[in-house]
Amino acid sequence: MEIQTNRLDRGFYKYQQEFEEAALRVLRSGWYILGKEVSSFEEEFAAYIGAKYCVGLASGLDALWLAFRVLNIGKGDEVIVQANTYIASVMGITINGAVPVFVEPDEYFNIDADKIEEKITEKTKAVLVVHLYGQASRMDKIVEICKRHKLRLVEDCAQSHGSAYNGKVTGTFGDIGCFSFYPSKNIGAFGDGGAIVTDDEELAKEMRIYRNYGSEKRYYNKVVGTNSRLDEIQAALLKVRLKYAKELNEEKQKLAAEYDKRLNNPELILPKIREGADHIYHQYVVRCKRRDELINYLKEKGISIIIHYPIPPHLAEAYTYLGHKKGDYPIAEGYADEVLSIPMYNGMLKEEQDYTIDMLNLFR
Ligand SMILES: *Cc1c(COP(=O)(O)O)cnc(C)c1O
Repeated sequence: MEIQTNRLDRGFYKYQQEFEEAALRVLRSGWYILGKEVSSFEEEFAAYIGAKYCVGLASGLDALWLAFRVLNIGKGDEVIVQANTYIASVMGITINGAVPVFVEPDEYFNIDADKIEEKITEKTKAVLVVHLYGQASRMDKIVEICKRHKLRLVEDCAQSHGSAYNGKVTGTFGDIGCFSFYPSKNIGAFGDGGAIVTDDEELAKEMRIYRNYGSEKRYYNKVVGTNSRLDEIQAALLKVRLKYAKELNEEKQKLAAEYDKRLNNPELILPKIREGADHIYHQYVVRCKRRDELINYLKEKGISIIIHYPIPPHLAEAYTYLGHKKGDYPIAEGYADEVLSIPMYNGMLKEEQDYTIDMLNLFR
């Protein structure tokens, strides 16, 4: 049997007719950029998250760097972020000329909230929290720290659409929540897309200006902005996805529960769930000390996996200029050596999961 880590085609065919109708509606409308599909998606997405405003953008990376831009965080400023994140989180900081200050992750793969305060300096302006793999971070403690030290709080929700902590949805804890609609995300487009959510009317307004060449009024440019607009066609397709977001997350949670219950190989460390935190399983990430052997074994059995992520940002070639070295963040580096995301996707068949579980349990 061939099992891929992800199957995006399944997610399309499940609602094929609705997706095709939405795409045709836009194609036939004659209006392709910043129209009523985007504005209605923004309203619906804000309501889904429980925020006042949503601004559609071209990608998750744009959401991140524009968030720091509208918060006026740049050269000379420091932003605290976990050391084991996807590199886009860090690029969102450094594109603005600000410096990422790394904090080790906790046992849930999120930022270790107990290690944030020791990293705060005169230059610290913000904390960027990443709800990695779909599990909400320890937001009560993080919000309290940010309030006490008067720091901005930005959330990278690229993997946590709808995931909550103590019932409050991620993206609503801080100043700005940043989302990606990359096709493989829990709410995915059919191309690139992103958005921010905020309760601050001024920040939402600034974001609308920045995404459109820095102009509010056509051909009157207030700031040096960018071109980062969510397409009408992607917004229309995302509205279909959004309609089923809850059931799509629940389907993944059921698959995860099955893995939790039936994976029993002592070579594997299964993901842990923090009390009060939701997990929407953007990825189901296990750890294995003999990862290379396991990957080769699975390949022989026809099962493919992905490593999220093999090189932590502080060791990426792109960030040699930050001057970090191997050993600076041993927990994050240990995760990079041991984690693997096993197959899990909407539309995964029972026989596909059964086979994956059997093969994982038989690894010696
Ligand atoms: C996907 C992702 C991003 C970037 O989103 P793009 O839409 O690909 O630019 C940022 N942060 C995290 C944690 C992600 O998983």
